[in-house]
Amino acid sequence: MDFQLSEEQVAIRDMARGFAGDHFAPNAARWDAEEIFPVAELRMAAELGLAGIYVSDGVGGSGLGRLEAAIVFEELAAACPSTAAYLSIHNMVAWMIDRFGNAEIRERFLPKLTTMEAMASYCLTEPGAGSDAASLKTKAVKDGNSHYVLNGAKAFISGGPTSDVYAVMCRTGDEGPRGVSCVLVEAGTPGLSFGAKERKLGWNSQHTAMVNFEDCRVPAENLVGAEGDGFKIAMAGLDGGRINIGACSIGGARAALDAALSYAQERKQFGQPIASFQATQFKLADMATELDAARLMIHRAADSLERRDAQATMHCAMAKRMATDIGSAICDEALQIHGGYGYLKDFPLERLVRDLRVHRILEGTNEIMRVIIARQLLRE
Ligand SMILES: Cc1cc2nc3c(=O)[nH]c(=O)nc-3n(C[C@H](O)[C@H](O)[C@H](O)COP(=O)(O)OP(=O)(O)OC[C@H]3O[C@@H](n4cnc5c(N)ncnc54)[C@H](O)[C@@H]3O)c2cc1C
Repeated sequence: MDFQLSEEQVAIRDMARGFAGDHFAPNAARWDAEEIFPVAELRMAAELGLAGIYVSDGVGGSGLGRLEAAIVFEELAAACPSTAAYLSIHNMVAWMIDRFGNAEIRERFLPKLTTMEAMASYCLTEPGAGSDAASLKTKAVKDGNSHYVLNGAKAFISGGPTSDVYAVMCRTGDEGPRGVSCVLVEAGTPGLSFGAKERKLGWNSQHTAMVNFEDCRVPAENLVGAEGDGFKIAMAGLDGGRINIGACSIGGARAALDAALSYAQERKQFGQPIASFQATQFKLADMATELDAARLMIHRAADSLERRDAQATMHCAMAKRMATDIGSAICDEALQIHGGYGYLKDFPLERLVRDLRVHRILEGTNEIMRVIIARQLLRE
């Protein structure tokens, strides 16, 4: 067991840290306030290989592993959790196509996804199918051999109206997970439309909307994998997605802890820096300890998934649950250390609290993470 990053991993971390510090950090508050989706900066990230981190290199990916992805997302999220999290969803979709798509579909979609000439969305959730995703109802009916015709609606889709490629989990067969397929729908396809941009607590640098399908005709060759594989593909994507969203929580929490460490040493009350009070010191010590523990779990889950360990899904669920709960708690405590100033938009704490809150809800709620963990424990 090696707790040290390799030289290559340190170089990747430093590259991501430098990029995020230069291009995400100075803009994050404005992107949040003005609800700007930063296409130019995302394409710059893609130039550094960050749009297909664990996609194979033959189709434009970086061919790296899950640990490298976790390292990158922590760094990007330390500068802007919302933008980092959108990029993590884009990476998840690109990987699903790379891992399960045939040569034709991989060559058609991945070169433009890895440059972010095309942006991707992941469409699983429906108005009536959230945690119980396998009950989804969006239907895809074959029209001859050439097309699927899609009808239905997807809810809460990140990248909603701004994406170019939608990986849609839809029903081509019977009820339950085995009747689900994964089909790629391209922007501009007749019958594809969007709901209004959702008004959200955080994650404001990426847009979220309903995605609707009304007699939406999609070429049959846009099927990823085989008919009936869709739920398996969606869940496989989420294993890695959960590592990445956990890493985004760690990054946001690290930024909050750094801010709290500086502020506690500068802010004086009762004639001394608030960092001199042991109550503050113990808070900082606990925040640093828990952040470290969460990072170790994320890195362990990344290693487990990379090795295709039989318990990888459980490790990813455990790490996502821990890292997102701890990340939120650290941001909240860092805001508390800033007193009233933490509540103001002049400081980044309130944005970090808002942005990290949703990590406990999406990619499977933290209650569903417990369901996954308990299922594995009771099977053993
Ligand atoms: C900003 C944002 C972006 C999102 N982006 C995407 C996206 O890009 N693509 C996508 O497909 N989805 C996306 N989602 C949807 C997200 O994944 C769902 O909101 C989430 O899976 C929960 O579904 P739900 O909201 O329907 O809640 P519900 O499933 O209705 O759950 C409500 C509550 O009940 C609890 N609960 C449900 N079932 C159980 C159970 N068996 N045991 C214990 N507790 C349970 C839940 O944990 C939760 O607390 C996004 C959501 C948000 C808010």
